[in-house]
Amino acid sequence: LTEAPLQARWNSTVASLQKDVSATELKDEKGFKGHSMLAPFTAGWQTTDLHPLVIDKSEGSYVYDINGKKYLDSLAGLWCNPLGGNEPRLVAAATAQLNKLPFYHSFWNRTTKPALDLAKEVRDMFTATEIEKVFFTNSGSEANDTQVKLVWYYNNALGRPNKKKFIARAKSYHGSTLISASLSGLPPLHLQFDLPAPFVLHTDCPHYWRYHLPGETEEEFSTRLANNLENLILKEGPETVAAFIAEPVMGAGGVIPPPATYFEKIQAVVRKYDILFIADEVICAFGRLGTMFGCDKYNIKPDLVSVAKALSSGYMPIGAVLVSPEVSDVIHSQSNKLGIFSHGFTYSGHPVSCAVSLEALKIYKERNILEQVNSISPRFQDGLKAFSSSPIIGEIRGTGLILGTEFTDNKSPNDPFPSEWGIGAYFGAQCQKNGMLVRVAGDNILMSPPFIISSDEVDELISKYGKALKATEERVQ
Ligand code: PLP
Repeated sequence: LTEAPLQARWNSTVASLQKDVSATELKDEKGFKGHSMLAPFTAGWQTTDLHPLVIDKSEGSYVYDINGKKYLDSLAGLWCNPLGGNEPRLVAAATAQLNKLPFYHSFWNRTTKPALDLAKEVRDMFTATEIEKVFFTNSGSEANDTQVKLVWYYNNALGRPNKKKFIARAKSYHGSTLISASLSGLPPLHLQFDLPAPFVLHTDCPHYWRYHLPGETEEEFSTRLANNLENLILKEGPETVAAFIAEPVMGAGGVIPPPATYFEKIQAVVRKYDILFIADEVICAFGRLGTMFGCDKYNIKPDLVSVAKALSSGYMPIGAVLVSPEVSDVIHSQSNKLGIFSHGFTYSGHPVSCAVSLEALKIYKERNILEQVNSISPRFQDGLKAFSSSPIIGEIRGTGLILGTEFTDNKSPNDPFPSEWGIGAYFGAQCQKNGMLVRVAGDNILMSPPFIISSDEVDELISKYGKALKATEERVQ
C-alpha cells in the first residue's frame, strides 16, 4: 500500500473522476481563474477546474443537476433538509408570508407575529430543561457566537469578569465565524486564520474506537475523559471557566455518538464548578436521532441550546439560542440597568424564516416525525453497518438517521491510508457517478438522509454505497 507509482496513479484517477462525475463544464470566457464565486469549503483547484456540480432542482430525497442527472441526497443538503426537496406546505407558508409582510425586524420592542409565535413554539418543544426565552439568528454559527456573548454578559452582570473561558472538544464543529470556528476543534478551521481565540480551550474528543486504551471499557473511557476535563478546569482555575459546549452527536468531526455514561459524567464535572452547559443541537435537534432533541436521548440538562438547520427544514436561513430562566433572568435585569441588550441582527426573527419554521414544526408534529425516523432508521443503520467487515473500513458508526464511515487500513484507528490516495474522495466520486451524493471529510464519509426517505430509497442508498465500496476496495488491492 505504500508504492509511490500507485500513489501517482491514484491521484490522477481521483482528479479525472472529479471531472467525470461533475457534469457541468463552465466556460472560462473572460480568462478568469475559475468561476466567479469564492466558494465556501472548496479548494482553489476545484474552482479553477471549472467542473462544479451545479444543482438545479430538488424533489423528495433527490436533487438534480443542471444536466438533469438525478442524485439521492444522502446528506439532506448540509444535514439540514429533513422534509426533502419539495414540501409544498413550506413553499405555501413562505409565499403567504412574503405576500403579507416580507420583512420587519425585531429591534426596540418592535417585532412580528411569526417571530413571537415561533419563539413560544420552540420554547415549549424543548422539555429536557426549562427554557424561558429564544433568541433568533440566521445560522448555527451566529447562534454559537451569540452563546459566547450571552455567557460573557451573564458573568459580567454577576460580577465575575474573570469567568470567561470556554471549553469545547477536539473534532467538534460549531461553525465558521471567528468565535464559532474558535470553538470548533478541527485544525483546518484554525490554521491560517489565527484561531482559536485565546479564551477557548479544547478537551478530549469522545471517540471510543479511536482513543480508548487497551482493555478500557466505554464507561472507563468516559470516566477518564471526565477526569481529564476536571483536571483542565482545575489547571485553568474554575473561577476562569464560564461554559462547556458540546454536540450531542458530533457531526462534521466524523459522526461520533457519545460513549456510554459520557454525558452523565461530563455534566457532573461541569455542574461542580458552576460552569454553564451549552448543547449545540444544530444537527441533532428536531428528530435526527429519533428523539426531538439530542438532549432527550442522552439526558443532557443544558443551560443554553443552539438550533438551526431542521428548524426550517433548510428552506430559509434561521438559527436560535434557547435560554434557561437562570441565564435569561440575569440578562433581563442587566439590560434594564444598561438600558438595552445590545445584540441582534437585522434578520433576527425574519418573518418569512419564522413562518416557514412554524410550518416545519407543525409538520413534524402532525406527521409524527419521530415515529417515522425510528421506523426507518434500523433499515438504514443495519443495512450500512453490514459493510463493517470490509477490509478498508475501520468503523461505521451512527444512530437514528446519521451515520459515518471511516476508512482505515488493517481495521485499525492507527493505520490511516496515505492522504494522497484520496480514499474518501474516490469513494465519494464513485457514489456521485452512480447517482448519490455523500459528504467526504478526508477518509470519513458522512450521511444524514432526509426523514422522509422511503424504505425503497434506503435500499437504493445501501446498494449505491455497496457499489462504491466495491470499486474502492478494488482500487486499494
Ligand atoms: N453547529 C453544528 C453542530 C453544525 O453542524 C453546524 C453546521 O454544520 C454549525 C454549528 C454551523 O451552522 P451554520 O453553517 O448554519 O452557521
